[in-house]
Amino acid sequence: MLSKAMIDKMNDQIKNELYSAYLYLSMCAYFEDKDLPGFAHWMKIQAGEEQEHAMKFFEYLTDRGARVSLQAIDQPPAEFETPTAVFEETLAHEKKVTALIHSLYELAVSEKDYASQEFLNWFVKEQVEEEKNASAILATLKMTGDKGSALVMLDRELGKRDE
Ligand code: MG
Repeated sequence: MLSKAMIDKMNDQIKNELYSAYLYLSMCAYFEDKDLPGFAHWMKIQAGEEQEHAMKFFEYLTDRGARVSLQAIDQPPAEFETPTAVFEETLAHEKKVTALIHSLYELAVSEKDYASQEFLNWFVKEQVEEEKNASAILATLKMTGDKGSALVMLDRELGKRDE
């Protein structure tokens, strides 16, 4: 049986993951508006992944016999300065999510909740990937700059993302 503290924190995390989806969908809309379809495509797939993350928590709570309670999702920013600024924000956001996952893990450890630790291991690994991917694109953007043919090439590359 999950503790009340764990149920509350996992319900918070459903909201946090859905906010991530909302943030990336807003970034997708920004890139569509800037005629960068590859970047937009990358963000759309990213948003879809975040919805899947939310559903993993939803299903875990349900599997453990806990009640899911959905919360209001904040409005994400609609405007961004540049593609580089978008990926700076993406990386900063993923670092925040990593801290949230670690905080959930710390609770599971302190409660000797081994099942939740096992469940959360997937997210600990996933956050390493999320930060790595955002860092790699940010590093490339710092080389290409925010316009010109190098940016168009990067847009084509990001348009190939299939998962
Ligand atoms: Mg996530």
